[in-house]
Amino acid sequence: MDSQTIMTGVMGNPIRQSLSPDMHNAVYKELGLNYASAAFAVTKENLRQAVEGIRALSFRGVNVTIPHKVAIMEYLDEIDEEASDIGAINTIVNENGKLIGYNTDGRGFVQSLLDEALCTVAEKRVLILGAGGAARAVGISLARRGASQIVVANRSVDKAAELARHISNHVPSQAISLGKLEGMDLKEIDIVINTTSIGMVPEINEMPISDKQLHSGLLVSDLIYNPIQTKLLHAAEAKGAKAHNGVGMFVQQGALALELWTGHKPPVDLMRGIVLQRLMNK
Ligand code: NAP
Repeated sequence: MDSQTIMTGVMGNPIRQSLSPDMHNAVYKELGLNYASAAFAVTKENLRQAVEGIRALSFRGVNVTIPHKVAIMEYLDEIDEEASDIGAINTIVNENGKLIGYNTDGRGFVQSLLDEALCTVAEKRVLILGAGGAARAVGISLARRGASQIVVANRSVDKAAELARHISNHVPSQAISLGKLEGMDLKEIDIVINTTSIGMVPEINEMPISDKQLHSGLLVSDLIYNPIQTKLLHAAEAKGAKAHNGVGMFVQQGALALELWTGHKPPVDLMRGIVLQRLMNK
């Protein structure tokens, strides 16, 4: 770093566990870009000042993570159309003092499905488990890219209903309670996506659905990347289904953000290597 270094970063709370600075700094080094990234713990009370800091210190951009993805939008100058549809942002780009919000989570997921599972979205029947922030980004992005129908299953069924209503602006969608999924025949589904935190460290022996419902015709995707292979993905593979973990989405959302800041297509294999190394050395 020197007096010419262009700053980027990630802000959230908690943030010390973030893999983003390592991932982005490795790319800057590899591409010979005089950029740097760091992590910033920002409380809700300090959110407005933190955004003003992006302008005042001429940061090129930041990633935004839990819990600020929605609240930060009111402090930005412009929101990209897909991010506005999703109702949350995860990336800010500073265009000469004008702050523009983007959401690369959903696009990152779609790109990762294509790259790693060789799966396109068009005409697919999708079951989304969960209705939180990640479900929203993934659900809206899949709907905008032509999934034929999307079922949203959530513990709090009112949240599932709200997301399904929103998705219905694009494609047919229905809501169901997670508890009632046992009665649903997944033979009519092509892709199951777990967007709940069920199965994440430390609850690694939990699964959001019963393995009895899994079958070999499914692609089962889990947004969780810690552990890399959740119990759900092990069960899916045991049934002959295709399994897709959350590392690729994390890498791709970061790659898309970096491209927005620098204009360079980042080496995603290098990024994936850094993330896997960090996850395996925990
Ligand atoms: P969130 O907004 O807090 O949503 C959490 C979801 O999980 C809600 O649908 C919640 O249901 C459900 N849930 C949590 N505990 C549950 C339980 N014990 N039983 C049933 N349902 C439960 O969180 P988020 O930001 O969407 O993140 C969700 C997951 O996605 C996390 O594991 C996160 O690590 C992962 N993620 C991965 C990436 C990636 O790049 N791979 C990106 C974003 C998120 P209720 O509505 O009923 O509470």
